[in-house]
Amino acid sequence: MKQIVILGSTGSIGTQAVEVCRDLGYRILAVAAHRSVDQVEAQAREFLPRYAVMYDASAAAELSRRLADIDVKVLSGIDGLCELAALPEADLVLNALSGMVGLRPTLAALTAGKTVALANKEALVAGGRLITETARAHGARLIPVDSEHTAIFQCLQGEEGNPIRSILLTASGGPFFGMSREETEHAEVARALAHPKWNMGRKISVDSATLMNKGLEFIECVWNFGVRPDQIEVVVHPETIVHSAVEFVDGSVIAQLSDPDMKLSIQYALTYPRRRPSTVRHLSLTEVGKMTFFPPDLTAFPCLAMAIEAVTAGGLCPCVLNGANEEAVHAYLRGEIPFGAIARTVRHALDTVPAAGEDYTLEEILEADRQARAAARAYLSRKE
Ligand code: MG
Repeated sequence: MKQIVILGSTGSIGTQAVEVCRDLGYRILAVAAHRSVDQVEAQAREFLPRYAVMYDASAAAELSRRLADIDVKVLSGIDGLCELAALPEADLVLNALSGMVGLRPTLAALTAGKTVALANKEALVAGGRLITETARAHGARLIPVDSEHTAIFQCLQGEEGNPIRSILLTASGGPFFGMSREETEHAEVARALAHPKWNMGRKISVDSATLMNKGLEFIECVWNFGVRPDQIEVVVHPETIVHSAVEFVDGSVIAQLSDPDMKLSIQYALTYPRRRPSTVRHLSLTEVGKMTFFPPDLTAFPCLAMAIEAVTAGGLCPCVLNGANEEAVHAYLRGEIPFGAIARTVRHALDTVPAAGEDYTLEEILEADRQARAAARAYLSRKE
């Protein structure tokens, strides 16, 4: 029986991963969350993990008090996350943390030689070179969890040594597909969060509305699959049936299709390289009837264009893009800035924060992230 560590066990991916572990009969060895004490307590009582982490110290103290009657060790902070990531008895670490906080636990797990199912896209975007080099140095495996990246990963099974010509990265287009930049400038938070196809956390939902999510996924592709930016084509596919595709050197295109359901992506990461029965709905192509594909509108959605620009420029540019975006999205979610200001904030950070140099360390990543956030906050605090 596989023993699984779930970092970010109360978020959208985390709670679905808990359900998948329940369905598969996998042992949950440890859970970690930011400060949702009630949810983690319920998970601890159901699954009796050996460890539970609350990132927030006062939440950890509260959880520890509540779990006094059962044998679960409660830890806190970034050190607690890193300790769980490297547990000797863990077979797989699912990193479903949201944001840059996921970077150090990812490195800790890979350094311990763990297989990491990575749903934490910000860490890979900001520190892609460091993460992939750490994995290689310690013989550790990264398995993608995102629907697009699991699709590409699945298309590549059995294809070792066969050159890729291009990756077709599909995008639903998000809630503002077909709208102009002027039309989305003052889009309300509730509309940005109403994604037509996927039910996700708040931050990633806004990223889907700006298409920054696709930009982050574009950058992840470069690191996950070792392709150049000019080999990746973003294709808007509103039906969300084709989850992405790979074109090989001979012109054959292999795609992965299913009814959109994140539990399938999560399950494949946990059961890899095997497949197990799942709860995903049967795909009826005749019911789907018609699938459509469009080029992305890079003028209406400049965040995607900036992400492609950042990964093409290299160095810490993706880290700066990501840090500024996180700050701007949270300001937008708090109702402090218009939707259109997210892209302008990212532009400002890319233009002002130094991000040169390919051989960066963890400290340099964290420093570039800090500077990007500071630049974003300074930009947002002045009158636009
Ligand atoms: Mg995705």
